[in-house]
Amino acid sequence: MLTGRHLIAGEWVDNAQKFVSSPFTGHAKTYSCGTADLIDRAVQAAEDAFMSFGWTTEAERAKLLRTIADEIDARGAEITEIGCAESGLPEMRLNGERGRTVGQLRLFADYIEKGEYLELTHDAAMPDRAPLPRPDLRLSQRPIGPVAVFGASNFPLAFSTAGGDTASALAAGCPVVVKGHEAHPGTAEIVAQAIDAAIKSCGMHQGVFSLVQGGSHEVGTALVQHPLIKAVGFTGSLAGGRALFELCTSRPEPIPFFGELGSINPNFIFPNALANRSEAIAAGWASSLCMGAGQFCTKPGIVLLVEGPDADTFIATAKDALDKTDEQPMLTDGIASAYRSGTAKIAGEPGVEELVGTTSTTRSAKPYMFVTDGDNWLANKELQEEVFGPLGIVVKLKSVEQMQEVARHIEGQLTCTIHIDAADHAEARKLMPFLERKAGRVLANGFATGVEVCGAMVHGGPYPASTNFGATSVGTMAIRRFLRPVSYQDIPLELTPGFKAEEMA
Ligand code: NAP
Repeated sequence: MLTGRHLIAGEWVDNAQKFVSSPFTGHAKTYSCGTADLIDRAVQAAEDAFMSFGWTTEAERAKLLRTIADEIDARGAEITEIGCAESGLPEMRLNGERGRTVGQLRLFADYIEKGEYLELTHDAAMPDRAPLPRPDLRLSQRPIGPVAVFGASNFPLAFSTAGGDTASALAAGCPVVVKGHEAHPGTAEIVAQAIDAAIKSCGMHQGVFSLVQGGSHEVGTALVQHPLIKAVGFTGSLAGGRALFELCTSRPEPIPFFGELGSINPNFIFPNALANRSEAIAAGWASSLCMGAGQFCTKPGIVLLVEGPDADTFIATAKDALDKTDEQPMLTDGIASAYRSGTAKIAGEPGVEELVGTTSTTRSAKPYMFVTDGDNWLANKELQEEVFGPLGIVVKLKSVEQMQEVARHIEGQLTCTIHIDAADHAEARKLMPFLERKAGRVLANGFATGVEVCGAMVHGGPYPASTNFGATSVGTMAIRRFLRPVSYQDIPLELTPGFKAEEMA
């Protein structure tokens, strides 16, 4: 039951400006298009809601998060149906992503109930201290206020309306205004219906959540520039993220912009691992490269290995696997067209050999594999740019020492991977100081696609992987983005949020 409307503080709102969705399958539908006025209405309601929501207990917010998860589950079949049609992603992926979405809502509920996230600190008064008495000081982490969230094209559920940014902001006590992504307005609306039902059944202020559908850059611009918005969560392109980041920093009151942008996720294959397992690693790489048509920020876009017969075996095995990979749907016409121009650009670079590649003229993609050498890759910055889709570059290095040169040269990454056997550990140890400086997550003998949602996860990294290297957009630490420390000096305990009632007794 789609209305094609925005959800603004519990009301389904229509407006004259419209856009038409562009599903991969099924019928296009007309949706109301967001405007700056609607953004203002949603943000004002969020600010009203913050005055009560920011002071709710962990138990009250945990109940809201769990109820949202239940309401999403109750609409599971409907969400999968429209999500598949809009995104072109298969049913199994949508079901899996829904599992992850409700899982992270429930994880945040459990996490805030434990209370550790508050980092409560008490330095008791020392009235008799000489030469000066010490006041009573209590520190707690407090929610920052209304948060803007941009739905991501490539994760209609887990990084969109009720995704990780929304879940962590609500867990912190921050109302959320979501700007829906034009690629999946129907999915966004059904998830918003679930959130609306949960807010109503938990008796929360309805300004806690709004969804303003997309339609033009005006909506995103108005959202990040609204004076009552205190932070932004974003997953998307480097160009879009950078533009919005700059709008956030140039406001009269600058605010943090938590953008998760581009990454090529290098895989360094060390000589012993390559000698012992070149075929297995090549098959794993080809499969990870093509997962979800390569439309993952953790896609392993580049492989670095030392030239020689083992490297040749790796390349031949990967080529064989990629040649056999079917064409897959892409999320939007724009993304398919960006993939076509990205592949053509890499193919036109000097010193690059195309081993696999078929251009699709439709909204789908076939894999591309290019091979170059270390010196050429180091000399050409274009080869470091993310191409969204199943495109991989294999870089043949002169020696294992050249891995350090590459690692020093790469930009900030979400992930860096090493493939090692025991006999590679000594060389791998030399690379680690470079890798940990460049990436949010360093992994061994696996592939970075498939991001675990847990306490020890970092999904972020130095620019351009993200705009804020101290943060993660996945896992429980994501809540920190929407909290700030406040010190309460000589404030009576019953007026100080966060400290337990038993301490007051
Ligand atoms: P996008 O173009 O960055 O758009 C994401 C969101 O930001 C949309 O809501 C868009 O609004 C808004 N936006 C972008 N630029 C803006 C600006 N200058 N002012 C105001 N709002 C702006 O990303 P996308 O649509 O998801 O996909 C396009 C490309 O992004 C892909 O081809 C891919 O290269 C990259 N991408 C990367 C990742 C990743 O995880 N690394 C994920 C998704 C996409 P509008 O609806 O108004 O355009």
